[in-house]
Amino acid sequence: MRKRPVIAIDGPSGVGKSTVARLVAYALNARYIDTGAIYRSLGWLAEREGVSFDDGSGLAALCALHEFAFDAGGHISVDGEMPGLAIRTPAASLWASKVSRHKEVRAALLELQRQLGADGGVVLEGRDIGTVVFPDAEVKIFLTADPKVRAKRRWKELLERGEKAALEDVEQDQLARDEADRNRPISPLRMATDAFELRCDHLTAEQVSSLIIERAQKLSS
Ligand code: C5P
Repeated sequence: MRKRPVIAIDGPSGVGKSTVARLVAYALNARYIDTGAIYRSLGWLAEREGVSFDDGSGLAALCALHEFAFDAGGHISVDGEMPGLAIRTPAASLWASKVSRHKEVRAALLELQRQLGADGGVVLEGRDIGTVVFPDAEVKIFLTADPKVRAKRRWKELLERGEKAALEDVEQDQLARDEADRNRPISPLRMATDAFELRCDHLTAEQVSSLIIERAQKLSS
């Protein structure tokens, strides 16, 4: 029995999971784990080390060879080096999507994610946290929003970072990635039957996080 809850936040890309998860973690004094950053870092490593995105066992071997860790601010490091914005480019999003479809990769990263959340007091965000990584999470949230709203959010983020991107391209990339995430045979993106769905189109990140915090606080009262 965990003393503090595991809060699972899943949903498609660009729905605002990271911002919301950070706010929830901060308010509840919990750790924040962005599981997408692990898949992104693995894609970045594969590209750097010349491992084919089609080679499931080669990619899984990379997981075993390298150490993924998160600092208190929720930033990922690989063997002590922070990939930072190198894992946030549109190309890196695609690499992450490509590595994440392999069953060998998912098996290799499952244990790591479970260890990261084992003690509770943690907010994990991803695609399969409530369904596969922590099916026993105390709080399960599934965020959704209209694809156009999500694409615009991602596009603004890229512009703010100084990346050149056309809104239509961001929307197309995102739809393709969602399609791949939803239709892969292993751990597809889907809402857990016992998750609470929150539509975010007309809510600010603060409003969404308040709703989640309320649910988490009800547990302990
Ligand atoms: O959340 P983010 O957009 O950073 O995730 C990048 C990619 O990593 C996703 O498109 C998805 O393919 C993969 N991913 C996953 N399972 C998770 C988190 C991310 O398959 N729990």
